Amino acid sequence: MYRAGGSLPRPEQTRVMVVANQKGGVGKTTTTVNLAASLALHGARVLVIDLDPQGNASTALGIDHHAEVPSIYDVLIEGKPLAEVVQPVRDIEGLFCAPATIDLAGAEIELVSVVARESRLLRAISSYEQPLDYVFIDCPPSLGLLTVNALVAGAEVVIPIQCEYYALEGLGQLLRNVELVRGHLNPELHVSTILLTMYDGRTRLASQVADEVRSHFGSEVLRTNIPRSVRISEAPSYGQTVLTYDPGSSGSLSYLEAAREIALRGVTSQHVLPQQEQRGPVEGTQ
Ligand code: ATP
Ligand code: MG
Repeated sequence: MYRAGGSLPRPEQTRVMVVANQKGGVGKTTTTVNLAASLALHGARVLVIDLDPQGNASTALGIDHHAEVPSIYDVLIEGKPLAEVVQPVRDIEGLFCAPATIDLAGAEIELVSVVARESRLLRAISSYEQPLDYVFIDCPPSLGLLTVNALVAGAEVVIPIQCEYYALEGLGQLLRNVELVRGHLNPELHVSTILLTMYDGRTRLASQVADEVRSHFGSEVLRTNIPRSVRISEAPSYGQTVLTYDPGSSGSLSYLEAAREIALRGVTSQHVLPQQEQRGPVEGTQ
């Protein structure tokens, strides 16, 4: 078992973090598993819910997710208790995963005719009895019913943004969905955290995108950027997070630092509602 030195403050109540961006390949899964691992290595109890039929978060955490494994599909569609599908993550004490199997690909359609279709995940998390400090929900790259279930279940939206051209494209749609869910289904919901990923400090483009995101969003953007790192991209093929695969690498240290910011913000900052109206539209998203 790995254990990092020192511990971080633990939240008084479970923080449910929805990692979302309907743009594909921006680092949602990588961010989910590495933030979750960082917090668990610092003493927190953390559950990762894999809500993507691709099952990438399950793979990255070394969790078996072939078709017969009890999974989040059974929870959402069959009403199976979450506790019956959760598995401990090997090597990291305090880290758990509710895996996704390929069945979940059908759930988007099947949910349409299920009772209380938007709040199935909320109900499952609410009746989970084990104590947890954090729940991280890894969303698929879409804004369908799976992502809506995550937005109804969580209070905090974490948006990874890849530092490349078109980075902000589509973000307006995500923000509007957050507003809609907040208005109708979940008044607590807010964008708490924006994380710049795959940052390559040598390119002008990356720093331009970073400046643009920072000037638009301000305090929600973490100070730590996640660098582009080969070690980060290699880790999943070993069923590991970068925290255990190469603990001293820049990728590992940056996720630890981002996790520290999140843990400290949860304790020290009063949540300020996002003020999209005052900020004007996100460029390139209208
Ligand atoms: P999807 O929308 O398909 O779910 P995603 O948003 O979850 O994708 P990831 O799967 O986390 O994105 O990342 C996309 C690819 O980029 C993966 O191959 C991942 O290993 C790689 N990657 C993510 N972050 C980094 C990084 N900081 N440095 C290098 N490669 C990275
Ligand atoms: Mg993913």
